[in-house]
Amino acid sequence: MEKISVIVSCYNEEEALPLFYEEMERVRKQDFEDMDFEYIFVDDGSKDKTLQEMKELRKKDNKVRYISFSRNFGKEAAMYAGLEASTGDYVTLMDADLQDPPALLRQMYNTIKNEGYDCVGTRRVTRKGEPPIRSFFARMFYKIINKMSDIEMVDGARDYRLMTRQMVNAIINMKEYNRYSKGLFSFVGFKTKWIEYENVERVAGETKWSFWKLLRYAVEGITAFSTTPLIISSVVGILFCIIAFLMIIVIIIRTLIFGDPTSGWPSMVCIIFFVSGIQLFCLGIIGQYLSKTYLEVKNRPIYIIRETEKEEISKKNS
Ligand code: UDP
Ligand code: MG
Repeated sequence: MEKISVIVSCYNEEEALPLFYEEMERVRKQDFEDMDFEYIFVDDGSKDKTLQEMKELRKKDNKVRYISFSRNFGKEAAMYAGLEASTGDYVTLMDADLQDPPALLRQMYNTIKNEGYDCVGTRRVTRKGEPPIRSFFARMFYKIINKMSDIEMVDGARDYRLMTRQMVNAIINMKEYNRYSKGLFSFVGFKTKWIEYENVERVAGETKWSFWKLLRYAVEGITAFSTTPLIISSVVGILFCIIAFLMIIVIIIRTLIFGDPTSGWPSMVCIIFFVSGIQLFCLGIIGQYLSKTYLEVKNRPIYIIRETEKEEISKKNS
């Protein structure tokens, strides 16, 4: 029998997790009679009773596995841990808040099975229920990053997707520390089909992403998959050199013709401020890349596990 691994990253999801499990089980019983299942719940250093919830579910159901991190490592790390632990022939990534409808899963599976795709991704066509300002910046972000990067990022694409084992292995092989999954999924290639659906609001609990966190994530995405900002800073530098050169010529000619009237002190100050601002900005861009390189070079683990269901098993055996 073929097996599907369902990976769910959870950060403070004590309310949503049982609801998720119920709904997922309902769908499994209804649509996946013919298949083996495995749930991998990754507790990303939750501060509430999420881990206890997972253990409860584990007691009830052998298909449930869990991984608990030593602290909050972020959703990217949680998804990576899940992928590494997964054993299924097909793997799906889902949120615990039921914003990724499990009911779509059969359709996704059929697409892979019958139409020869390696991956089926989902994208939201609406952003209903989201603050408008957030949608606006999200749209901007996708416009900018698609101009700057060779890798295509699909607007509204969610992390919810079903992949074949082959693709999962390709992703596991990308062991970079600064992970930006949307980019990694595109980077590995394979044939992906997109399914569209309307945005669903979360069932319980609240979003873990503040505006600030999203902004940092966006910068992460750009620096991880594009070096265009570095080119932009070089171009701006060259442009300013040319302008300066033209101004020198203008001033020399003016001095030769009209003598040397000492005026222009205020405009000089403005120019100095402007140019040093640009310099600092470009230095900041270079700093971004340097810091990313620094973190990669240190080769720190992407996540650290505190406990999993495996210890439970070994305890029982000894
Ligand atoms: N999440 C996580 N670690 C974090 C933040 C979020 O594992 O540091 C999980 C969270 O529990 C949820 C999923 O990522 O299952 C998506 O988070 P959320 O629903 O808050 O994001 P949104 O849907 O609002 O973008
Ligand atoms: Mg959500």
